[in-house]
Amino acid sequence: MCEICGETEDNVYTCKKCRVKFCEYCGDVESSLCLDCLAEEDLKSDEELEDSDFDEEPDRSIKPHLECKGYPIRIE
Ligand SMILES: [Zn+2]
Ligand SMILES: [Zn+2]
Repeated sequence: MCEICGETEDNVYTCKKCRVKFCEYCGDVESSLCLDCLAEEDLKSDEELEDSDFDEEPDRSIKPHLECKGYPIRIE
């Protein structure tokens, strides 16, 4: 039975990270990860993306735009 939703499913898979048994609705069968570990993986990849974005200064490209909006008004 699935240890996540508690349903008695014929096909259960074992999470490769936390070893919980999950059915096809409670995790990713192909990567053998339960929903909990899938969410963790998502969080990690999101954080990594944000970090690398900061290094590539995406914020600077936004700020100049805001300042540009103010300039024409001040000049007039
Ligand atoms: Zn389940
Ligand atoms: Zn897991």
